[in-house]
Amino acid sequence: MTGFDTRAVHGGREDFKAMGVHASPIDLSSTYPIPDFDEGTRSFAAWGAGEGEAANSIYGRFHNPTVARMENAVAGLEGSEACVAYASGMAAITALLLSRRAQGNHVLVVRPLYAATDSLLTNGLLGFDAEFVDANEIAAKIRPDTTLVVIETPANPTCDLVDIRAVVEAAGKVPVMVDSTFATPVLQRPIELGASFVVHSATKFLGGHGDVIAGVVCCSEELARPLRKVRVSTGANLHPLAAFLIHRGLPTLGLRVERAQANAIELATRLSQHPAVAKVFYPGLGTVNNAHLVGTQMSGPGALMAIDLKGGSAAASKVMNSVKLMVPAVSLGAVDTLIQHPAGLTHRSIPVETLGKYGITAGMLRLSVGIENVEDLWADFEQALSGL
Ligand SMILES: *Cc1c(COP(=O)(O)O)cnc(C)c1O
Repeated sequence: MTGFDTRAVHGGREDFKAMGVHASPIDLSSTYPIPDFDEGTRSFAAWGAGEGEAANSIYGRFHNPTVARMENAVAGLEGSEACVAYASGMAAITALLLSRRAQGNHVLVVRPLYAATDSLLTNGLLGFDAEFVDANEIAAKIRPDTTLVVIETPANPTCDLVDIRAVVEAAGKVPVMVDSTFATPVLQRPIELGASFVVHSATKFLGGHGDVIAGVVCCSEELARPLRKVRVSTGANLHPLAAFLIHRGLPTLGLRVERAQANAIELATRLSQHPAVAKVFYPGLGTVNNAHLVGTQMSGPGALMAIDLKGGSAAASKVMNSVKLMVPAVSLGAVDTLIQHPAGLTHRSIPVETLGKYGITAGMLRLSVGIENVEDLWADFEQALSGL
């Protein structure tokens, strides 16, 4: 197999030469002409059965060639047989849960998690019985109706790591879903560690430029079929223009993640020595759970961190209101550095006691480091933290 960056540059572009193009054509068709009667019925049946290929696309909710090219490229990076794209990360997670519903409704979940995933599992909307456990309790908690184990590593916003291999072993026959959004396939490939499903909010690093909302699930061809059926039935399809933008950004994924990570390592070190900062949660500093997995499970510490300010909520507010270069905004994984306040924004739907259990305080800010020049980012921090 070719190297990761070569696959990032060439993946999903195999048919370009034959088409005589150098960029992915954005196919906006909602319906497709059916030149042959029998081929039409065969293709229609194939999409209905959740197949990944058929001679004719038939209808835009069934299949889109621009989306399929991006899916093939992402599968090549994760090392999975298949990838199924959705209109958002949450649509991808919802589809994954629905695709498992026939096998049971008990889901084992390790916190902390992206707050919308946490809410989706606890609000009862989808009828799942979600049980929150520690990673080391999983083997004992598996029941005959357990249909999925859900983990997120690094976790949002604390950057705690979960040992994927150990969870896969503990789960036995039950498939494990890893939300690998923070890690990207550059730093971590859960399929190689035995996970059944890898989920990304492609809105984040895969898209990378803050201009697209999308989600993907990477898995085996067998597990992809029910996922595609859910997509055909519920219609949470990714728009071809969004797929084009993600595909366009993939060639620089490795460069972006490596540069952002190098900046993050430098900032984490400096922030941990700043008098206004009580703690920096960053895998590279050994200050998160299972930080020893950096270097094995995860090839590097990543570009996300959280800082706990000594001045609590007032200090968090001062920093968010004073940053000049960094962007005070939710989301992550963009080329620019984003800073946000989990307790007041992304994680406000989670009870304060639960947040406290994971060290998520009113003085915590989460940082998604971008690819700017690190000295400019540090200068922005110095002025925003001054006087605290
Ligand atoms: C953003 C995010 C999601 C949800 O993705 P959307 O594209 O916003 O729907 C899920 N998991 C993690 C870890 C995320 O950061």
